[in-house]
Amino acid sequence: MIIILIGPPGVGKGTQAKMLSGRIQVPQVSTGDILREAVKEKSPLGLEAKDYMDRGKLVPDEIIMKFLEERLKKPDCAKGCILDGFPRNISQVHALEKLLGRRHKDTIRMLAFEVSEVELLKRLSGRRVCKKCGSMYHIIFDPPVNDGLCNKCGGELYQRDDDKEDVIRARMEVYRKDTEPIIDYYEKSGVLRRINAEGTVDQVFGRVEEALR
Ligand code: AMP
Repeated sequence: MIIILIGPPGVGKGTQAKMLSGRIQVPQVSTGDILREAVKEKSPLGLEAKDYMDRGKLVPDEIIMKFLEERLKKPDCAKGCILDGFPRNISQVHALEKLLGRRHKDTIRMLAFEVSEVELLKRLSGRRVCKKCGSMYHIIFDPPVNDGLCNKCGGELYQRDDDKEDVIRARMEVYRKDTEPIIDYYEKSGVLRRINAEGTVDQVFGRVEEALR
């Protein structure tokens, strides 16, 4: 089964994807994480992607599809995966369908996370990520025990370049224009469930489980 998590930046897709992955034993595939890893490694495609990411723009489809194709070929994705941050526009929807062929086409589910814009800005501007293990914190809602350090591995916490306010606004604009139309597309095919993403992480996860039941 392919479960697509869609929603504006900062809605909590990544957190929910990790929890769901643990529950149903299917890997989380986050194109954002894959890109950040490539940037860290300074690979040629990673460096090309960085420029778009820093401006809150979508990385070109050709680059994304190269990374995604490679990832989906790995054996842990044989039974499916949780797609987090992909597809981001209609042409990626078509590219995904082509890539999956008949194999998974009938088993796609989409969960669309919804939250108000004010809440999103609050969540994103306070978000901090561990440099070492990728764990996420929030300076007000979920602060680490020791300031600036990860509870799990002691790694240094940082603010993603694209979590600064002007870039957040650009990312929201891209979401509205390019990504939201995907929701209508899947709504028409009857595989969409809308999730209220306000409330605690556990409350939202309860809704996710309910929607997939
Ligand atoms: P995310 O972690 O999903 O918020 O992604 C961070 C950034 O990576 C986005 O703002 C885009 O620049 C880029 N990105 C991630 N996934 C995609 C995708 N499917 N298509 C294009 N760009 C992407």
